[in-house]
Amino acid sequence: MNNIKTVNILGAKVQKLTMDEATNIAMGFLKSEGKKIIYTPNSEIILYASRNEEFMEKLNSADLMIADGIGVVYGAKILRNTLPERVAGFDLLKSMLPLMAEAGNSVYLLGAKPTVAEKAAENLKNDYPGLVIAGTHDGYFKDDEAVIKDINDKKPDLLLVCLGFPKQENWIYDNRDKLQVKAMIGAGGCLDVFSGTVERAPEFYCKHGLEWFYRLKKEPWRFMRMTALPVFALKVLFKGWKYKQN
Ligand code: UDP
Repeated sequence: MNNIKTVNILGAKVQKLTMDEATNIAMGFLKSEGKKIIYTPNSEIILYASRNEEFMEKLNSADLMIADGIGVVYGAKILRNTLPERVAGFDLLKSMLPLMAEAGNSVYLLGAKPTVAEKAAENLKNDYPGLVIAGTHDGYFKDDEAVIKDINDKKPDLLLVCLGFPKQENWIYDNRDKLQVKAMIGAGGCLDVFSGTVERAPEFYCKHGLEWFYRLKKEPWRFMRMTALPVFALKVLFKGWKYKQN
């Protein structure tokens, strides 16, 4: 990682950045030849990493690591540190895309169910004229090498990897040396939203830290996954209490 200040949350070094700062850094990646990695952990991902040392190391190898979920922002507060704001991966992309279009940058969309990435590509082309869609591929492939070859033939500036966690973080980390891209981002369900397959929570929910509640209402099958939230909160509270004792 670079020398940006971080908050250590259960071992994950989340960077203290505003949306504008994160956007500037990410756009800077697209001007260099760095193969930079952007991870966007929420509390579920950090909880998983806190139980899996190897995954935590991968997460902490990111060049840009932002707080995707409101739970991470509250977690930092409990640990007597602050993150300036939530910087969700989806919002970071929304902030980058007009700038990328202006600069004529290219993006490759990898992930989600068949046809979703293509639909997302169509919408992005309409919404951001000037943005180059270098290529698309669904996220249910078996042959990594064929996908890597397609990406490398197209040499996008930015690679969106939307395979869900921990698959996307592992895939990026494990293949980073083979990939010819300037930057790559683990972006979860973003292609589902860009394609219009899934609706993003309305602003009210996002602003008030209730996006998880909206998603639970829409996708009740997420209930089991969401039990990670209170476990994460308890673990962070315990860490905060121990910190106070010392
Ligand atoms: N996905 C994929 N390949 C897989 C597993 C999942 O492409 O092997 C996709 C899935 O179709 C969905 C995304 O990864 O588009 C994960 O979305 P989810 O909303 O679960 O991500 P989150 O942002 O909550 O981590």
